[in-house]
Amino acid sequence: MAYDFDLYVIGAGSGGVRAARFAAGFGAKVAVAESRYLGGTCVNVGCVPKKLLVYGAHFAEDFEQASGFGWSLGEANFDWATLIANKDREINRLNGIYRNLLVNSGVTLHEGHARVVDPHQVEINGERFTAEHILIATGGWPQIPDIPGREHAIGSNEAFFLKELPKRVLVVGGGYIAVEFAGIFHGLGAQTTLLYRGDLFLRGFDGSVRTHLKEELTKRGLDLQFNADIERIDKQADGSLKATLKDGRVLEADCVFYATGRRPMLDNLGLENTGVKLDKRGFVEVDDLYQTAEPSILAIGDVIGRVQLTPVALAEGMAVARRLFKPEHYRPVDYAMIPTAVFSLPNIGTVGLTEEEAKEKGHKVQIFESRFRPMKLTLTECQEKTLMKLVVDADTDKVLGCHMVGPDAGEIVQGLAIALKAGATKRHFDETIGVHPTAAEEFVTMRTPVAG
Ligand code: FAD
Ligand code: NDP
Repeated sequence: MAYDFDLYVIGAGSGGVRAARFAAGFGAKVAVAESRYLGGTCVNVGCVPKKLLVYGAHFAEDFEQASGFGWSLGEANFDWATLIANKDREINRLNGIYRNLLVNSGVTLHEGHARVVDPHQVEINGERFTAEHILIATGGWPQIPDIPGREHAIGSNEAFFLKELPKRVLVVGGGYIAVEFAGIFHGLGAQTTLLYRGDLFLRGFDGSVRTHLKEELTKRGLDLQFNADIERIDKQADGSLKATLKDGRVLEADCVFYATGRRPMLDNLGLENTGVKLDKRGFVEVDDLYQTAEPSILAIGDVIGRVQLTPVALAEGMAVARRLFKPEHYRPVDYAMIPTAVFSLPNIGTVGLTEEEAKEKGHKVQIFESRFRPMKLTLTECQEKTLMKLVVDADTDKVLGCHMVGPDAGEIVQGLAIALKAGATKRHFDETIGVHPTAAEEFVTMRTPVAG
């Protein structure tokens, strides 16, 4: 049977755009549907605008520290509306780039909400198109718990478009987004409290990293409240919000921001017209080749709920395009050693196993840790400390994990990830000459293990 398209991609986000462009480049006839914004979450309400706001928040400390280097500045003033307008302009520019990328690679772009009507057919804007393969790359959506007053809370999608910077913010959650936005709000001058339901935020990260970041954020004056969760939110007569916690305490705020995870975006997608199955958490179930239970339908990215990071969605998109249309170049995505950063202030950068994971997997570990005051701060009042940590297998000498909390941690860990991927041993680290004077050189000068 002749289909309208070889591949119909639903969702022009990180994974969908990558799969569509490369499939078209390999000679396939490809369409991509996008209902909201080109570039998806990462470009519009994720990585990119988030990082711009983090840069914005960082200036607060740069201004403070400048005096140690002889600068005297007038009173610093921050204007939220300017930051948001400039951010929007940049995102518009990127949307245009994504449009050109797709069109120039020969992909047909359909703008509208797409719905699967049968295993080989998609409906969009009242038209139906057939395709040999359909790729679900619809991403995720913020998930706010169903508590009384939930309608008064916002999630990350709204945070990027607030008309003004709230004076008092309650951030709920203890994952990437909560920690990053707590840093943004606090850095830009809002009185910020982070509420996390467990004992210590960033579950799954290395224990030293979690404790170190807690100490650094506390030093900066961020109010961290653990074992705390909101039971209900009420709007008061003056428009402010009253959050009643499960332990009975009441906190007042102008904004309650939830970052409590993301659900797969399957709204009105029509998967019930197919044999596609969902896993226990509600994400689309796929095998190692991103094949769903319906042979003609594949899925990648956040909607499959594996690792919700842009570079992972890109790699999955590439793998699908190659497997379908350039099988001789196909390589499976390697989920080991995925480096990641949390753009908190200070940043976390991490790759490989945490100390806890390494021990659980039965490794006999050697731990190397260094805490120091970055050189840039020595002329300032700032007492911030950087943490660097190596988890090493005592038997094989292999470096199993690198973890850092400090300025540019993400930038530094990206390079280390290549070394770990190549199987570097602690001896390789020791024999590598440092770049002096940098913070990064500390990773190659740690000689004495702190714990075994
Ligand atoms: P998405 O990028 O979400 O794209 C899905 C697209 O599908 C969307 O454009 C959507 O509009 C469209 N769509 C959905 N349903 C339909 C339909 N029925 N018809 C047509 N179109 C549809 N990752 C990092 O690596 N680094 C970071 O710093 C980082 N920061 C983040 C910050 C925030 C606040 C958030 C929310 C996420 C962040 N992420 C980050 C995660 C990253 O954004 C996601 O992992 C990535 O965008 C997933 O790509 P995707 O292609 O699976 O989905
Ligand atoms: P995460 O899964 O990272 O964190 C969710 C947090 O919310 C956890 O602390 C969780 O607690 C808590 N939580 C979950 N449900 C509830 C509830 N009902 N009540 C109270 N607290 C709750 O999700 P995020 O929303 O922060 O981010 C989504 C994903 O996006 C991330 O996992 C990451 O993959 C990606 N991302 C990546 C970024 C980066 O690369 N820098 C930045 C931002 C997002 P508990 O731990 O107890 O379960």
